[in-house]
Amino acid sequence: MRTLDSVTLTNKHVLMRVDFNVPIRDGEITDDGRIRAVLPTINEMLLQQPASITLVAHLGRPDGEIDLKYSLAPAAHRLAELLAQPVALVSHSDYFQGGSLSSGVQVLENIRFDPRETSKSDEDRAALAQLLSKNADVFVSDGFGVVHRKQASVYDVAKLLPAVAGRLIQKEVEVFNQVLTSPARPYTVILGGAKVSDKLKVVSNLLDQADSLLIGGGMAYTFLHAMGLDVGKSLLDLDSINEVKQCIALAEANNVDLLLPVDLVTASEFSETAQIATVSVEDIDPEWMGLDIGPKTRELFASRISESATVVWNGPVGVFEMAPFSAGTTAIANAMAACDAFTVIGGGDSAAAIRQLGIPDEKFSHVSTGGGASLEYLEGKQLPGLLVLMEEH
Ligand code: AMP
Repeated sequence: MRTLDSVTLTNKHVLMRVDFNVPIRDGEITDDGRIRAVLPTINEMLLQQPASITLVAHLGRPDGEIDLKYSLAPAAHRLAELLAQPVALVSHSDYFQGGSLSSGVQVLENIRFDPRETSKSDEDRAALAQLLSKNADVFVSDGFGVVHRKQASVYDVAKLLPAVAGRLIQKEVEVFNQVLTSPARPYTVILGGAKVSDKLKVVSNLLDQADSLLIGGGMAYTFLHAMGLDVGKSLLDLDSINEVKQCIALAEANNVDLLLPVDLVTASEFSETAQIATVSVEDIDPEWMGLDIGPKTRELFASRISESATVVWNGPVGVFEMAPFSAGTTAIANAMAACDAFTVIGGGDSAAAIRQLGIPDEKFSHVSTGGGASLEYLEGKQLPGLLVLMEEH
């Protein structure tokens, strides 16, 4: 993969894809981790005195229409604070007309205001990529969170300009390559989150690689059900049962230790104020639902983490957003922060969870900025936004 090392940026107009899809509440960014993550790349580029750096990003799903609720203004503002220099927000029309190429750093307004960004039509995307690239000399791709998407500002522009990976993508790729190809052993993976169907491909790929696979969160109940347990009103994906059974068989065949919850925090309803009972997995009330792993499971998972040399975690093991169901996710995060292993937090909700808990990123070897992208990487899939940085053109 080509990196910043293979280009000179002095006097060049740089177009850079970043992932500024940050959580915003009442106009305030509540977690600026993704903005901070590209500061090393931007600062390194500024030292080379490029003519300009234009950042392209998206926020939320404005569905191809201008909707100021999804403006990148808060992100541009935060970036200006972090860089301690002005950062302008430019409209698509100004940028496409080439009239506003300020020197320094600017943020192009939410690229998903243009329906061509995510279009399935190659022609539509190519047309937008053409507009994006015509005032630029070099494309720097550093939005790891979007490299699994074949979108105009991720994939198509890289075909039109000399294209290299920024330092964030370089680091993410190094980390995930290491865990995929030569993890220090024992290698433990923890998977959680709500949707089992999203993660079954990762599960089967990891069953060829990991030594232990720990499953929590909403996805665990389909596994428990497949093993003959009654999970009451917990999340259950009956369509995935056969695949889950195959995974259980594969784990056995490959000698992978598949650890499922042994006890749970169950609730009378999906609510912070629900009645709560901690029960063994055999004793779930048919009218109740499991919303977190129980204390025995926390201990079991934490001790497995402490014995590992590589630990990768993707997905909360309970409904951590609600205080009564956050102890499991807290226990996983703390066990990972305390262990000496090479520890990787796989983006998305798990990264949000460690920040909500106030655990600094430095406690982990790597906190990924890509939820979906890191999962697809672990699935062993080829990611279009990375492949295109390897192609010659
Ligand atoms: P995902 O996007 O599939 O990674 O799912 C993340 C979400 O899963 C978080 O918002 C959690 O609240 C939710 N979650 C975790 N455990 C459970 C559970 N036992 N039941 C329902 N939702 C859960």
